[in-house]
Amino acid sequence: MRCPYCGAEVNVSASPVCEYCDSDLSDLIPKPEPAADNWRTGQSNAQRVYVPGPQTGPKSKKTALLLCCLGFFGVGGVHRLYVGKIGTGLLYIFTYGLFFLGTIVDLALIAGGVFTDSNGEPLE
Ligand SMILES: [Zn+2]
Repeated sequence: MRCPYCGAEVNVSASPVCEYCDSDLSDLIPKPEPAADNWRTGQSNAQRVYVPGPQTGPKSKKTALLLCCLGFFGVGGVHRLYVGKIGTGLLYIFTYGLFFLGTIVDLALIAGGVFTDSNGEPLE
């Protein structure tokens, strides 16, 4: 899930505090269900490996794709804001995704895996 304060990908079940902005996320921890409890206290602990993400976590390709699709509903550029490309993101928003053309191009770039975030990192 995402930190509502800084937008970073956080693992609240591993730590109730956002490792990026130190916000208390304990309110966001989902209430454990009986099945989840069994799983947590069961035999499968060995399979649970906490993998700390890189400091600037890679953005989700799927999320970018979904946000990009908003462009077809007249809200272009949200995916660019999402990956940190604020300038072109705002430009897209005010121009309906460069009049849908930019949205279509970006959709192809994201789907093709060549769309990068503001750090030049490919989406994952
Ligand atoms: Zn945060």
